[in-house]
Formats: sequence, C-alpha cells, structure tokens
Amino acid sequence: MAATPEPIAPVASSPSPPPAASPSEEPAPPAPTEAAPAEEGPSPSDKRDNFKAAPKEPPAGEAVPKEKKKGSLGGNTFGFPGVRPVLAQPAAQQLRLHFLDVGQGDSTLIECPGGERILVDGGSGIAASASPEGARDHLRGVLGNSMSIDMVVVSHPDRDHYNALPYLLEGVQVGHVQVVGAAGEYSGSFVTWLAAIPSSRKTRITAESHDPLDTPNATMDCGPATVHVLSVSARGTPDNSPKNSLSMTLMVSYRDFDAILTADATFVTEKKILGRYPSWWLDAELLKIGHHGSSTTSTSPDWVTATAPDIAVVSSGFDNSHGHPRQTVVAAVATKTGTAAAHAFRWYRSQTQPEEVADYKEAIYGTGTSGTIVVGSNGSDYWVEQER
Ligand SMILES: [Zn+2]
Repeated sequence: MAATPEPIAPVASSPSPPPAASPSEEPAPPAPTEAAPAEEGPSPSDKRDNFKAAPKEPPAGEAVPKEKKKGSLGGNTFGFPGVRPVLAQPAAQQLRLHFLDVGQGDSTLIECPGGERILVDGGSGIAASASPEGARDHLRGVLGNSMSIDMVVVSHPDRDHYNALPYLLEGVQVGHVQVVGAAGEYSGSFVTWLAAIPSSRKTRITAESHDPLDTPNATMDCGPATVHVLSVSARGTPDNSPKNSLSMTLMVSYRDFDAILTADATFVTEKKILGRYPSWWLDAELLKIGHHGSSTTSTSPDWVTATAPDIAVVSSGFDNSHGHPRQTVVAAVATKTGTAAAHAFRWYRSQTQPEEVADYKEAIYGTGTSGTIVVGSNGSDYWVEQER
C-alpha cells in the first residue's frame, strides 16, 4: 500500500515558529525558472567523474534481474568547487544529491530538478563533530538566499541521523518534517526542537509501508523527478538492529538515473524491499551503502545483486570506532561498480584496522576521504564531484 503516514499527534509545544530566516532582510530568491540554463554539468574542474545512465526496462517475459555491465568513465575529470555557493546554484533540470560530510553520521540533501529540496537526515554520532560546520556551510551555499527546505526526513531514531538537524537547519524555513519512529525513541533535545514545529507541518511514521512500483510518493514532491519509499518502519522480524531496520529507504529517479538511499537499512529491511519489487526495477545507478558500510547488519549479496550500482557512496567518519565501511562490503559492491579516476578511499579490515588506498579506482566514494560528495544528473549523464 502507499506510504501514507499518519499525522503526528499535537504535542505540548511552544507557539514559537521553527527556526526561520528573516525574509525581510534577504533578497527574494530567484524562481526555479530563473535559474541558470541547463548545462551539461558544473564547471570543469579536477575532481569530477562522469558516467552515463542506462534506461531501466523490464526484461521480456519474466521479471528476472538484468545483468549490468561494469561501467566506465568518460574521459573528462572536473573539479569540485568545494563548499562555495557556485556549486550550490542548481542548474535547471538537474537532480543533485549532496552527501554532506557530517563525520560519523548521515545527511543527504536532494536538490530536485524542479527546485524542490528534501533533506534526508542530519546527524553525527561523534560529539566533537556534532556541529559539522563545513556541512552547514555547504548546505547554506546550496540554499542561497531562500534558506528554505521543502521536506526534512528523519529516517530512523538514531542520533547520528538527527542530532545535528537543529544546528544544520538554524535559520532555515522548513516546510514539513517526516519523522520515523515514536517520540520516546528520540533524545529530549530533539523532541524539544521538533515541538517548535507546528503539528500541521510534521508527520510521524510508525506503521510499516511502502510505495507501489508505479506510484511515486505523494508527499515528497521532487518536480520532474520522483521519490519512492521502498521501506519505512520495518519491524517484526528478528534482527539485532531494530532501530536501523526502521530506516526509511528511498529511491530517487530522474529519467534514466536512479539512486537508492538506504540510511541504516538492515538485512531485514533489504529482504522486505527485495520481496516487494522486481530486481530489474531496483537496478540503480547510485547506491548509498547501508549503515555506513557495516558488514554485520547491512548489504547482503542479494541486495548488491539487485541494486547493481554503477557508483556507490558511503557516509562515515574518517576515523570512526565502528570500523565503517568494512572492506568486505566495499569489495562486494565493487563487483558491480564501474571504474573512476583515482581518488583516496579508506576502509576497515576490522573494527580497529583502517586501510587507506590513495589511488582507488572503483567508483565508490566515502565522505571520510572525499568530504562532501555531490552526484548530479540531467537524467541521462551523471557525474560525481568530491570536496577533496
Ligand atoms: Zn547511522
């Protein structure tokens, strides 16, 4: 059935509005139609890898997984303009996914081709980096003068996915918030922050649901792109990561380009998704590797086979105590991903054994080594930019 979340019950909240920009002090933002004309991509620079999306069609006859060829890059490499606002100016008709470097946590801004903005998570589990300044600067550069986000999604109640939201969203007008899980599963400070948002503009999702294959999510408007909730609030199966299994898992599609955002989805979540959708449909250009690259909870062989990503992104701290991402997970995903220009990548052989490859050439990128990563697409071509 469709993911139709139930409204959050009114909470005892202060009448004050959520953090908001002072519109009177800022020039009016340009309408989406006034954005810079569509280009083939951002300005050339040294840290850009280019790819080509493949159309997704059901195989003739039965729905069997389609074999994907290992992709390869085009010849050009271009540079990441860093966190400067120039990167943030969304060219019309481009989808951009910003994987913000928040340390050991998750935060992804979806910049839709129609100008809509959806922020999925915002948290870091490391106290010292609980205020990820670089991520906030990048976010503000993207938002520009309008300082507004249409939808904020909190994928599940783990603080490395929500504890930095009040900091990241300070001064940002938030249209609507979707929160997965019960209030009691969140920290008191976050509940207080959430309480300042009127109940009419927030939704709590506690029932398991998903969007049918042919029915994109109605509440997450992404202009000419679509968002499908593949799973949310999955429960009821024995699992050692019950909170992680709740993770709202999304597919963002723009013409031939598909990206799967997993949050901390577990084997349980993956299995449910694999049971709901045909493998050919889950075949994606981009996979955000689940649970920061954990090998004990996420990224099963069947999941890798079905999603068959051409490129992959993992969000984790450069030095983290969890051993994320684990080398075995990276190696499994690398059986599907294409090649890329040499870049630094770091994985863990064990929880305490990091290993860095200075000239890694698989199209797998980590925020720990690359900083904020931006994947853009015009629906056919797509490209990866790294902060460093
Ligand atoms: Zn997490």
